Amino acid sequence: MKPRILYTKPSITELEVRYATDAVANGWGDRCYDYIHRFEAAFATHLGSTFAVATSSCTGALHLGMAALGIGDGDEVILADTNWIASVSPIAHLGATPVFVDVLPDTWCIDPEMVERAITPRTKAILAVHLYGNLCEMERLLAIGDRHGIPVIEDAAEAIGSQYYGKRAGSMGRFGAFSFHGTKTLTTGEGGMFVTDDADLYERVLTLSNHGRAKGQTKQFWPDMVGFKFKMSNVQAAMGCGQLERIDDLVNRKRAVFHAYRDGLSDLPMVRMNPDGGNIVNGAWMPTVVFDRDSAVTRERMQAAFKDENIDARVFFYPLSGLPMFKPEPGNIHAWDIPGRAINLPSFHDITDDEQERVIGVVRCLAGAGS
Ligand SMILES: *Cc1c(COP(=O)(O)O)cnc(C)c1O
Repeated sequence: MKPRILYTKPSITELEVRYATDAVANGWGDRCYDYIHRFEAAFATHLGSTFAVATSSCTGALHLGMAALGIGDGDEVILADTNWIASVSPIAHLGATPVFVDVLPDTWCIDPEMVERAITPRTKAILAVHLYGNLCEMERLLAIGDRHGIPVIEDAAEAIGSQYYGKRAGSMGRFGAFSFHGTKTLTTGEGGMFVTDDADLYERVLTLSNHGRAKGQTKQFWPDMVGFKFKMSNVQAAMGCGQLERIDDLVNRKRAVFHAYRDGLSDLPMVRMNPDGGNIVNGAWMPTVVFDRDSAVTRERMQAAFKDENIDARVFFYPLSGLPMFKPEPGNIHAWDIPGRAINLPSFHDITDDEQERVIGVVRCLAGAGS
């Protein structure tokens, strides 16, 4: 058996170890928020956003932000059918109804035309998820939001390092949410970030994130409302500070891994990969291969071929509306069709050229092309 190639793996250096060790040894008492505040400030600066709140996860950041926007019973939130469950679960927990629309065939992100058609008097938000680091068409989505008076929210969990006409993913909507889960480009093990330019929304999220205890409240143990407990620890934030100092290296390496795959597969007409270039920069969280419909290459064939080579490739997200707890929307043609002929390739920071060659070899073999 050939050595295993993992799908993702964080890049942790002496810097993160040093900061985390300092937080464990000294980050208590008067210093118990030092790394948290430092991480929030540095993240806001990196993104070009005014405010940032560190959270326990991206799911938590989305939940806080949607709660702060007042989304609840009877409301609708429009999002792409192609998505990870984390984007939709806060909507469900808040008692709102997710409205799943189709994706565009080239970016695999939400189709603005379908968004416009899905708007009703109950629509309270449009959730733009930048899938795999690919970018949603923010200009069109923001214009639709403006026209109907509906906020556009960005789930940028997979899009740190991605830019749209020079603006960073997560900085363009009413608020943005990021994930620092162990599989993401920047990691704290578990963790997330809420970002916004809206001062009122920031205050509400801050209060909600701390069990409803407002910042200016002088009474001890006095919540003013029922909130949540979605905070990040100082030790995690210390790791985050180290990772954020290395963000250019982390993103550039992701992009280099993606470009190596793209170059190794560019002569295969039946294979499509993530878009990059022109007015967008793809943070390249997840290099993805989509075979043409008439190639006869299926997800199952790809999974078997990668398994034979001891390579941990992962399936493309199933349409959320195909899950048992939601109403099926098979009319979302691309969202229901693409996963059956797509696969995600391993792309961790320290992957070697030889390992990438092995991955490329499997895809080329499936395509019936020589290496
Ligand atoms: C990873 C991910 C999340 C969830 O992040 P957590 O930090 O695990 O809550 C949300 N949305 C997308 C698109 C993701 O990829």
